[in-house]
Amino acid sequence: MTGSIKGLERFDSPGKGRGLRVTSAFKVGELLLSCPAYSSVLTVEERGSFCEFCFNRSQRLARCGKCKKAFYCNAKCQKADWPMHKLECSAMIAFGEKWCPSEISRLVARILVKKKSQKGACPSEKMMQVGEMQSHLEDMDNEKREMSESDIAQLHQFYSKNIDFPDHQELLSLFSQVACNGFTIEDEELSHLGTAVYPDVALVNHSCLPNAIITFKGTSAEIRAIKDMKPGDEVFISYIDLMYPTDDRNNRLRESYYFTCECQECQSRSQDKVKLNVRKRSDPIEEEDVNNMERYARKAIKEFRASKHYRTPSELLEICEQSLEKMGSVFEDSNVYMLHMIYQAMGVCLFMQNLDEAIKYGEKLIKPYSRLYSPLSLNLSSIYLKLGRLYMTMDKHSAGVQLLKKAVAIMEVAHGKDHLYLAELHKEMAQK
Ligand SMILES: [Zn+2]
Ligand SMILES: [Zn+2]
Ligand SMILES: [Zn+2]
Repeated sequence: MTGSIKGLERFDSPGKGRGLRVTSAFKVGELLLSCPAYSSVLTVEERGSFCEFCFNRSQRLARCGKCKKAFYCNAKCQKADWPMHKLECSAMIAFGEKWCPSEISRLVARILVKKKSQKGACPSEKMMQVGEMQSHLEDMDNEKREMSESDIAQLHQFYSKNIDFPDHQELLSLFSQVACNGFTIEDEELSHLGTAVYPDVALVNHSCLPNAIITFKGTSAEIRAIKDMKPGDEVFISYIDLMYPTDDRNNRLRESYYFTCECQECQSRSQDKVKLNVRKRSDPIEEEDVNNMERYARKAIKEFRASKHYRTPSELLEICEQSLEKMGSVFEDSNVYMLHMIYQAMGVCLFMQNLDEAIKYGEKLIKPYSRLYSPLSLNLSSIYLKLGRLYMTMDKHSAGVQLLKKAVAIMEVAHGKDHLYLAELHKEMAQK
């Protein structure tokens, strides 16, 4: 252990490598850990809506006068961000439309600069150093290796003027570290805002039955208890969306984090049957047909994800509708693959400003979500928020307030009562 934080300690978790456990009791909603980002990057899509430095959401941000691409709360944020923004400011002007590094390349560039600026500095009070994060370089398959190679090429293409690069092997290892230890910063509706590295948070292991939850305040990560904890309990958060059945969850965990979960739910698979809810008919559907439809569903989800970048919204909506129709012959509406496509359809409708349709899809999600997710899930609060806000926009005030209140109840525990999101929500609910 290289440092400590009150009530927490790093330890060797049996079968999991290092982990984090509590040394004192914590109650539901209590803050376990607040961790500033070692390095963070705002996603390109959210430029203009959030401060590039502190991730504050505002409609009154000032633009960088040079590149006109980065936005800030004020001169203070702009100045503080300059050591990082200067890596991109003039390059964005020089490359124009052709400036397109991946988000992970942008983050790695920042980490390289940060590492250099900290060389020789006193070791911090942290429990974990960036260099200690696992890289799993040896576990990478060819596809991942190629991705990293192309990320490294981007780094050289877009950042060579400002960074002295370490050798290729070290870069590969850094990309791999960031890929399995980086966190996606999300807003209260789970929209992607950026990516960041939090070495201490990287100590926290995964469980499909987590006792803690991670949220973000600006660029800082906060972890709060969602179950009461007693001294000695290991802290677990979930790395993935927990709606899906055991095999899907573990495929995802192996693909992204190189381990298989052995939590109680992964062993008992107690929820799998409900999650894969099959239509009940007088002539029961053959097992083979069910298996085939599951395979189709997984493929459809994968293809939809891949085609998001080049298909038009109406094409995407059509794909959702077609797959829903096909799956609907075997699956109930509350089947998780159906819910996945309904959720995607809602997102596309929101993007297209087709609010009536978005509401129709959203209403189909509420009940099954409240059954499939644990009562303190951010997936649940985010759907309450999305639909609640839609109702408010459509002047369905009482229906809107009802859902927003449900979101608030979850967020008061997960985000903490003093989070800015909650103040904003109370304002929204007060508006007529
Ligand atoms: Zn700011
Ligand atoms: Zn600039
Ligand atoms: Zn599990």
